[in-house]
Amino acid sequence: MAGLDVPVEPRKRTLFVIDCAKSPEGTANVNHGRLPLMIDPTGVFCRPEGRFFLTGCAPVEDPAVDWDDFEPRYEEFEDIIWPTLAERSASFEAVKVINQWAGHYDFNRLDHNLVVGRHPEVRNFVFANGFSGHGLQQGPAAGRGVSELIIYDEYRSLDLREVGYERIVENRPFIEKAVI
Ligand SMILES: Cc1cc2nc3c(=O)[nH]c(=O)nc-3n(C[C@H](O)[C@H](O)[C@H](O)COP(=O)(O)OP(=O)(O)OC[C@H]3O[C@@H](n4cnc5c(N)ncnc54)[C@H](O)[C@@H]3O)c2cc1C
Repeated sequence: MAGLDVPVEPRKRTLFVIDCAKSPEGTANVNHGRLPLMIDPTGVFCRPEGRFFLTGCAPVEDPAVDWDDFEPRYEEFEDIIWPTLAERSASFEAVKVINQWAGHYDFNRLDHNLVVGRHPEVRNFVFANGFSGHGLQQGPAAGRGVSELIIYDEYRSLDLREVGYERIVENRPFIEKAVI
């Protein structure tokens, strides 16, 4: 709407909640402890979600999708996630999907990183987007940085200029590699 060009597009990610008949965490009698967040080198990840587990993966094909396309990619569980989890632990051989949903990464094609700060010319336009799937971790710092920019017209706590919009215009990537 502002007529500004940002290389950020919606990429779909599907999450699955699974019930595990023989939990790798054991039972009340034999407790193996909580499963930590596990990220397999293939990009399949899994963590406890109450008495269930939450899991997802990096898709093989990862095109931009329509803004209103939230249809889960059911096949990712059978094709990618389940075989990978079962390979890591026999406990994951007998599982049942009990819920799934899709969300969008605001994916920055340039460097998979956030875009924060003022537009160099349209000075009253402040970016905070392009988090590429790691925005919960960066959100608190981005929010504080944006509020400092608005109130003081400068960053005070953390200098966030490295992830400003200028790098987009200058085609100067600030690469984030750890993206699932
Ligand atoms: C499946 C999935 C897994 C993720 N996992 C992780 C993770 O493990 N760790 C991590 O750090 N990050 C993760 N993320 C990324 C993280 O969720 C996002 O980066 C973060 O939520 C972005 O925050 P935001 O405030 O920029 O946008 P959002 O959280 O999307 O907030 C935007 C808000 O604006 C509202 N809105 C939109 N349009 C309008 C309008 N016209 N008027 C008024 N309101 C409007 C929306 O309803 C929404 O509430 C994940 C994302 C997805 C999809």
